[in-house]
Amino acid sequence: MNTRRLTGLDFDTLRAYTDIPPSAERLLSKTEKEISFDLNLVRDDGSLIEADCHLVYANTVRGPAKGGIRFSPAVTLEETRDLAERMVYKTALAGIPFGGGKSGIAMDPKSITRFEKMAVMKEFVHMIDLELKSGAYIPAPDLGTTPYDMAVVYGETHMPESVTGKPPSVGGLPGRREATGWGVCHTTCRAAQEYLGTSPEGLRVAIQGFGNVGSYTALFLAQRGAKVVALSDVSGGLVDDKGLDVPALVAHTQIGNMLDECTGDHITNDELLALDVDVLIPAAIENVLHKGNAAAVQARLLVEAANGPTTPEADAILRQRDLTVVPDILANSGGVVASYVEWRQAKSGSLTDASETYEVIRSRIDLAFDQMVAHVKNHAIPPRTACQLVAAEELVRSMHDRVWI
Ligand code: NAD
Repeated sequence: MNTRRLTGLDFDTLRAYTDIPPSAERLLSKTEKEISFDLNLVRDDGSLIEADCHLVYANTVRGPAKGGIRFSPAVTLEETRDLAERMVYKTALAGIPFGGGKSGIAMDPKSITRFEKMAVMKEFVHMIDLELKSGAYIPAPDLGTTPYDMAVVYGETHMPESVTGKPPSVGGLPGRREATGWGVCHTTCRAAQEYLGTSPEGLRVAIQGFGNVGSYTALFLAQRGAKVVALSDVSGGLVDDKGLDVPALVAHTQIGNMLDECTGDHITNDELLALDVDVLIPAAIENVLHKGNAAAVQARLLVEAANGPTTPEADAILRQRDLTVVPDILANSGGVVASYVEWRQAKSGSLTDASETYEVIRSRIDLAFDQMVAHVKNHAIPPRTACQLVAAEELVRSMHDRVWI
């Protein structure tokens, strides 16, 4: 049995709606390449900085492996594989010329100094030098990494197209930082119209996670007139039925703990997930909705801003209850679409402004959303299956064209 197995696609279901040749299924069921290594650095006092690192190429039939560098103590090869696979379907669904990859550094970034983090990033680049300089793997920020870390990658490769998510001052894209949240907001507005028959004005939304994705999602939704009634971070959340003051909370989070802001009542993350709202947006980490709490979800629409927030068991429970789930590979694709625009800018030497970035995200999400809705209607399947169907068809087409199958 192949240990590099991928498990994301439900081929048994998809085969009922499209022709997936056995050879394509085989290629989509395993990773192409995996690199694991130890990263070791010695501090001045003789102590060692040590981390397990992984780089996974899940599938590159549609282009170079695109996917962030995760810097977290929870990083494992299995998690990196799972995240790389999601990138395969996300990029195919968005119709951009990338494949799926991911890398990870198993270390708590908070356990080292800023200078040590820079040294770790440089060593990481050194260890995968060929992958980066050949353009085979194009990283971006993920949990625990920032635009400044991407600037370090660029500083080592001297190739602006070798990494995306850089600060705008060193070839990054205006709007990249906000891009994922902008895309989640746009997807939420489209889904609210399609499945709840409502515009964003007055839409009652709860968002778990107040980092990059959660905070920009909240800001953009509030700008469009939605009522963000609950927000949380790892330490807990705030709820206010009249709507939270999102810009004030964003400003406050930059200088202190969100929960110290005296608006709203304190709630736990579990309570937030069970609130009676129109839309629930998990925007923190994976597997937060599981078989133990899915039945308690009262929202009418779930928009997956985080990668993999819903376990398959929870997904089945939500489906039985007719709750619409917009999957991560569509909802949070704004980030990778913006990365594509940044990569294109780096390769061409052109300049792009934020409004152009948002416009490309809007058009890619609209196209994918329309295809999803068409499949949902034609085949009476859930949005997640519909998105996988669009992506699988795209990948099979690419495999034919490259004579992989
Ligand atoms: P981040 O580190 O900026 O923010 C994460 C937020 O989640 C923080 O507010 C943190 O306090 C909170 N959190 C962490 N653990 C939690 C827990 N157990 N319960 C509740 N809240 C918790 O990360 P991010 O960049 O905003 O990414 C969030 C999710 O979105 C991840 O799944 C990531 O893979 C996904 N994603 C991010 C991007 C991007 O461009 N940043 C793109 C696509 C997908």
